[in-house]
Order: sequence, then structure tokens, then C-alpha cells
Amino acid sequence: MAKLKDYTKEISKCSKCGLCQTVCPVFQKTLNECDGARGKMVMLEGVLNGAIKIDDKMLFYFKKCDGCNFCESACPAGIKIKEIFNCVIENL
Ligand code: SF4
Ligand code: SF4
Repeated sequence: MAKLKDYTKEISKCSKCGLCQTVCPVFQKTLNECDGARGKMVMLEGVLNGAIKIDDKMLFYFKKCDGCNFCESACPAGIKIKEIFNCVIENL
């Protein structure tokens, strides 16, 4: 099973452009940064650099994701967002 650190390079490809938010049905409803892929990439960067840990509050946002994968289709960096999200959920 892949570990989050295996996706370090992939996560670092995020330019924070925000295109993923424009297509995310959950973000469009809440306008909460944590609900979109960009916010999740920021959170995971924090996990990877040791600033924060994955906790129930963070996991709450990953579980809210409906898996539509619209964000990955829109992402100009081609980040494997679905794989990364699955990694977070499966490793907990
Ligand atoms: S579309 Fe991709 S590169 Fe842009 S903020 Fe979202 S995850 Fe990052
Ligand atoms: S897969 Fe999740 S984060 Fe991506 S657009 Fe769909 S609901 Fe939003």
C-alpha cells in the first residue's frame, strides 16, 4: 500500500492555481478551502513537512469528498488527486 510520503513529489506539483475549486461540488457549496483539492494539497504538504498531523478534523474533510474526480480532470499539473486522497483514507 502506498504511503503518503510516496506522493511527496506529486503533491509538490500543486501550483495552488485553484482550478480544482471551480469544479468541486463540495467546495462550491461550502466555499471552505479545506473542501477543495487545493486546500487538501496544502494540508498534506503540512503533514509531509512535519508541521501538522493527520487528525480526525482533517480526515473529516477527506471523507466529505464525493469522489467525483472533477478536480483531477481540471488540474493542469495532472496531479493524481484521487490516488492521493485514497492513500490518506486507506492509511488511517
Ligand atoms: S488544480 Fe491542481 S495545481 Fe491547481 S490548485 Fe488544484 S490541485 Fe493544485
Ligand atoms: S473528487 Fe472531491 S475534492 Fe475533487 S472535485 Fe470531487 S468532491 Fe471535490
